[in-house]
Amino acid sequence: MLLGGAAPQRCDKVHSFNGGLAAELLESILKPPRKLDAFSNFPKMKFRRRLLAWYDLHRRDLPWRSSRDPYRVWLSEIMLQQTRVAAVIAHYHEFLRRFPTVIKLAAARESSVLAAWSGLGYYRRARMMHAAAKVIVREHGGNIPASAKALLALPGVGRYTAAAIASIAFGEPVAVVDGNVERVLQRLFAKRVAGEELWQAANDLLDAKRSGDFNQAMMELGAMVCTPRAPGCLTCPVVELCATRGEMAGAAKARQKKREIHYALDCSDGQVFLVQRSRDASLMAGMWELPEIAHPGDRAQPDFIVRHSITVTNYKVHVWRRTAPDLALGKWIPLRRMRKLAMTGLTRKILRRSPSPVV
Ligand code: SF4
Repeated sequence: MLLGGAAPQRCDKVHSFNGGLAAELLESILKPPRKLDAFSNFPKMKFRRRLLAWYDLHRRDLPWRSSRDPYRVWLSEIMLQQTRVAAVIAHYHEFLRRFPTVIKLAAARESSVLAAWSGLGYYRRARMMHAAAKVIVREHGGNIPASAKALLALPGVGRYTAAAIASIAFGEPVAVVDGNVERVLQRLFAKRVAGEELWQAANDLLDAKRSGDFNQAMMELGAMVCTPRAPGCLTCPVVELCATRGEMAGAAKARQKKREIHYALDCSDGQVFLVQRSRDASLMAGMWELPEIAHPGDRAQPDFIVRHSITVTNYKVHVWRRTAPDLALGKWIPLRRMRKLAMTGLTRKILRRSPSPVV
């Protein structure tokens, strides 16, 4: 808790506020945290006003926020799932350059879509979006459905994505719940709400007149202020209304795992030897990558090492420049085709980082 008993939390996020708002906030945090009976007595209007005023002043200037075009909103929402904003920005522009409309996306070959997605990971998202684009062209005349209910019927569109597109692009009053919103709500009410109760709480709080902005403001608050560790309560626009004012007791810490893997990098005559993952693989099906090998054991040091993280696993990748093993699914691929090849992000990273130039 920030005040009133236990040790204060570290608050290291600082935003600039105008004088009136800063004074109001200072006064707010000097009051003890509210005691709330779940959500019934919560001052929703005040919360909406405070949150939206803060969002209007402090939101990040992100490329997808300059447009309410549903295709762009949809693309950004899919790309941002489990991927950092910084990594998404470059891919977002490149994807739109290659597939500027849902009609162009529907007409593209899957391998081209996967190539444009390369580096973002979780390729199922790209496959599903491609499949959904075909449905939109075939069944909706190329127009993206305008309601959360209709959007939910598309491949790869779940409750969160449907609500995000419907509220941001079409103004439908429907709330989103992602990891950020969940954390903000739980801290706000000092209650571990989950499942349907969480969606209900988000919908109760929603500002129906500015649903798209409200949803984005909740996610922005969770990403920039009410962060998983050391939330910035001193600069939080809703601190007065918050029952926790800090991390909740017993918050689980995600444990990162470590793994070491080895790859053979075999280049010759402007070509590199790659293998294709099985079409049935649960991860990155059909994508091209360097052949994974056992530790060669004949010399102590690989040619170079690359670090790579996927969800909760940190990989130490040992790359050995050597003749590739004789693998049935392997193929020599010309380096000039690399840009357009559906290749895993790790393979692309290794080829770029190789001390002796590969691409
Ligand atoms: S909502 Fe988050 S950042 Fe704001 S006061 Fe509560 S715990 Fe702190």
